[in-house]
Amino acid sequence: MPGRKKALSSYRAKRDFRRTPEPEEAGKKSREPTRFVIQKHDATSPHYDFRLEVDGVLKSWAIPKGPSTDPRQKRLAVATEDHPLEYADFEGVIPEDEYGGGTVMVWDHGTYRLVHESDHESDRGSTEKAVHDGHLAVWLEGRKLQGGYALTRMNRSTKRWVLVKMDDSEADARRRPTSTQNWSARTGRTMAEIRNGRED
Ligand code: MN
Repeated sequence: MPGRKKALSSYRAKRDFRRTPEPEEAGKKSREPTRFVIQKHDATSPHYDFRLEVDGVLKSWAIPKGPSTDPRQKRLAVATEDHPLEYADFEGVIPEDEYGGGTVMVWDHGTYRLVHESDHESDRGSTEKAVHDGHLAVWLEGRKLQGGYALTRMNRSTKRWVLVKMDDSEADARRRPTSTQNWSARTGRTMAEIRNGRED
């Protein structure tokens, strides 16, 4: 079966087995699943914190309008400081006198894989390199969001990036998940319930 043999040789050529302890199924394009979280943060300037597990930390972007499932909607995403992995589970109230004070909800979470957008070997680097180079495409498997999302830095000397839904099977211009699915993916709570939970 020449087609399969060719597919597998391509599969092997695309992987660094010093990094990947065991082979993945043919057709998968990335290595181990890694975590992502989107935290709705009701700060002075409300935003959604989009965080990707990369090399032991959470790479982070603050998205004022939140993510969209419509590929025509470009969303500003401002790079913020790396967070510890444990932060992905945080949901609660940050005191107002602390930096970034306000209520935090785990709006969505799940795993992601790096998407390789071309067959060029130069595009097959690590997620860390992609972040450093200012462009990465990820496939999300969340409770609310699925499919490809591209993050692109506007230019080298800025923290401003653009997040856009890739035009794939999970794209849907009619969905408004930030409005219609306004509860915690972790606990089912609304922002008010999280906020009030502090007093209970
Ligand atoms: Mn924040």
